Amino acid sequence: MKNILILGGGFAGVEAAIFLRKENYNVTLVSDREFFYIFPTSIWVPTRETAFEKLCVDLKELQEAHGFDLIVDSVEDISAQKGAVTLASGKVLDKYDDLVIAMGASKMKHKGLEHTLSICGAPEQSLLIRDQVDKIVAMGEGKICFGFGGNPKDSSAVRGGPGFELLFNVHNLLKKKGIRDKYELTFFAPMPEPGKRMGPKALKMMAKFFDMLDIKSHFGKKIKAFEKDGIIFEDDSKLESDFTMFIPAGDGHEVIKKSDLPLNEAGFIKIDDHCNVRFSDVDTFCDGEDMSRPHNIYAIGDTAALEGYEWRAKQGHIAEVMARNVAHNIKEKEKENGGESFLGYNEHLNILCVMDSGDGASFVYRDDKRAFMIPMPVVGHWLKKGWGVYARYSKLGKIPRIPGM
Ligand SMILES: Cc1cc2nc3c(=O)[nH]c(=O)nc-3n(C[C@H](O)[C@H](O)[C@H](O)COP(=O)(O)OP(=O)(O)OC[C@H]3O[C@@H](n4cnc5c(N)ncnc54)[C@H](O)[C@@H]3O)c2cc1C
Repeated sequence: MKNILILGGGFAGVEAAIFLRKENYNVTLVSDREFFYIFPTSIWVPTRETAFEKLCVDLKELQEAHGFDLIVDSVEDISAQKGAVTLASGKVLDKYDDLVIAMGASKMKHKGLEHTLSICGAPEQSLLIRDQVDKIVAMGEGKICFGFGGNPKDSSAVRGGPGFELLFNVHNLLKKKGIRDKYELTFFAPMPEPGKRMGPKALKMMAKFFDMLDIKSHFGKKIKAFEKDGIIFEDDSKLESDFTMFIPAGDGHEVIKKSDLPLNEAGFIKIDDHCNVRFSDVDTFCDGEDMSRPHNIYAIGDTAALEGYEWRAKQGHIAEVMARNVAHNIKEKEKENGGESFLGYNEHLNILCVMDSGDGASFVYRDDKRAFMIPMPVVGHWLKKGWGVYARYSKLGKIPRIPGM
């Protein structure tokens, strides 16, 4: 049986490990974290609606459930040509048949970023945001600013949804405490129409929500720097803030950027539709002609450069589709004729999320034909909570998987 090495233990890496084990391959997963983190439900940590620990699934438990090997260590170097991966411990992994890279993304750097916290940063940041929310509630009044930035080199790396969700949840928390009127809540972003990728209807509905909830908006001005007490924009104007939650756009992972892998301008790994790393623009999944190029490397999830629609976005469910496809494609490639029914990710590109507000939610969907946002008061909130429980227990194999989820 083939030996498959997976780098990264997030949505993409864990799904790949589960599905490659279903095909009976020997799988080794390397992660610099001891747990798989359920990012989408982390928006409730800062408002104490959920405990941080509930979002962490121990990788050892996943290992036991699915039978893969686990190495908790940090990848420091990847050499495609040498076929070797070097870990922080000095260990070199070079005995694999196929390599699946699923290490996620880094974040864009901004001046003064240390004055902000991000709900999309390291998992532990959600706890620091919780401390800041506690602090500002104790102050009894204040100015809170939430926002996100863009990556001009890759629009798919922008993540704004969790920023909206967390803001609505904080609004709700202040309302419950009867002190909402003592706070100024502002959402800021450098683009004139943040959230546009969700489609025109969603954009209109977000504007309505902002009006209804008395949330100010500050859009269309580039961010120059963050300071302890506010945000400075390109025209040197300042938005005052006692606490700033800011989600920088995604950027290529540092280890990937210094590797010999082919990258797009932003530092994400170039792949073809089947998630095979594309070493040249004429490469196709199974050309197999030029043996000087490795044909056994795949990149999936946030680490990969998505291609296609201008509204495309790096999302967890796309990461999982890519992972399942790679498990299928590796198996397919082993067929005597080299395989013919390879699966692609592009036809599955869509935006799909349940945007939570603390007391309800909206279902957001966009593909190449449709774009809509459906309000789901109360029930939406509980649906998202239910999904969090489903994500944990289905990955641990304790409840059956719903196909495609
Ligand atoms: C707050 C929040 C809410 C979200 N909501 C949604 C949603 O509603 N719907 C949706 O579809 N998507 C959502 N997303 C996006 C989704 O979580 C990401 O697209 C998904 O996590 C990408 O998975 P990934 O495995 O590619 O990357 P990641 O989840 O980032 O995983 C990367 C893994 O690689 C590991 N790693 C990194 N560097 C190294 C290294 N050097 N050595 C070893 N291991 C390393 C990390 O520890 C991590 O385990 C949300 C994201 C956030 C942050």
